[in-house]
Amino acid sequence: MVKKKLDKLPELFKKALPLTKKLQSHGFEVYFVGGSLRDWLLNEPINDLDLATNALPLEVKSLFPHSFDTGIQHGTVTVVLHHENYEITTFRTDGDYLDHRHPNSVKFVRNLEEDLKRRDFTINALAMSPQGEISDYYGGLADLNNKIIRCVLNPFERFNEDALRIFRAIRFVSQLNFSLDPITKKALIKKVPLLANISIERIHHEFIKMMKGVAWQKSFKLIYQAKIDQYMPSIQPSFKTQILENRFSKIVFHDEAEIWSFLFILNVFPINQISKVLNQWKSSNSLIKNVQEICNFYQNYETGLRDYQLFYGLKLSNIKIGTFLLNKINNCKLGESFLDGYNNLPIHQISDLAISGKDLIQFANFQPGKELGKMLKLFENKVLKREINNNKQDLIAYARSQK
Ligand code: ATP
Ligand code: MG
Repeated sequence: MVKKKLDKLPELFKKALPLTKKLQSHGFEVYFVGGSLRDWLLNEPINDLDLATNALPLEVKSLFPHSFDTGIQHGTVTVVLHHENYEITTFRTDGDYLDHRHPNSVKFVRNLEEDLKRRDFTINALAMSPQGEISDYYGGLADLNNKIIRCVLNPFERFNEDALRIFRAIRFVSQLNFSLDPITKKALIKKVPLLANISIERIHHEFIKMMKGVAWQKSFKLIYQAKIDQYMPSIQPSFKTQILENRFSKIVFHDEAEIWSFLFILNVFPINQISKVLNQWKSSNSLIKNVQEICNFYQNYETGLRDYQLFYGLKLSNIKIGTFLLNKINNCKLGESFLDGYNNLPIHQISDLAISGKDLIQFANFQPGKELGKMLKLFENKVLKREINNNKQDLIAYARSQK
């Protein structure tokens, strides 16, 4: 049994100790499990904490009145402690998988080993007690050391049960910069057709996590090798040539709109069908809008547009992403000062005008209607071209002169 020094325990784990103490003092076992334990052992930043216990959901609830059901049928109860939420899941085994995604039933068990057995990869099947002892039934520690993604027990069965694991494996390769164990890889390639059972929402979620990982090019090679691209709507058959260029290998992505824009600009997905493709991938309208804005900005710059029209009406965050992509893809050397083009605009949108339709009615004798809108549009144009200052007096004087 490996024992970890508890003085090095991350703050997030320490904060959960009152909770684990209470469970233990009532005779229950409780362990830190899942991604946060894996990431801590790898010295990577940790996200949300997963706890596993042999207490049944109702037993957990009776010990912690400040709790609510999250997925009680799967054994998960959320406990609130000092304004933080902790997910505690009862040890369970999964029944048969009939749709290659969801277990038909789950059964609560009292034994840790059984619970760890249902998990996807050895590195995700470790558990650590609040005292720091690590349980490693499936070789997860060695695989962490050797940077290997390996299924728990039989990989053919594991991918057969839940085909999402195919994409999870690909995503962990990128996120952790690990390699697939050869037998796991063989099984993964064989079971790829089962991805037909996985919803595009889940594939989308895993794909973006993959793209945010450091070794996303390595994952793309696997996608190509295993022919996973068939399950990625509208990806172009020639994607491999574009995406695997060496000069992109160091790019680290942080933002989903940045990722899609990159992929459209490289024509990994067809750039003239942004909204159609992103709808196929069940994306939000705001994402679609941002990607369109970034790609337009990028293309406008490429075609030589440099005046206010390049920046006007856009979100600064989108301009920053577009600039990042111009530098990375197009070898531009645009620095901070490039953004002056945006920052120094007299107005950033029509509502920034120092005059409103109401003002025109009140001070320049305008009638409500089309004429008003036309005048505001004219002001927008003149202010942007710096033919007139954006102050109320000047604008009203100009409006009166036009009557
Ligand atoms: P991260 O949170 O960093 O994305 P994670 O490994 O914590 O990664 P979660 O989806 O949060 O992933 O799941 C928590 C744990 O539940 C995993 O570590 C794994 O043990 C188990 N798990 C999650 N999804 C599956 C699955 N599809 N099949 C088997 N076990 C799974
Ligand atoms: Mg997690």
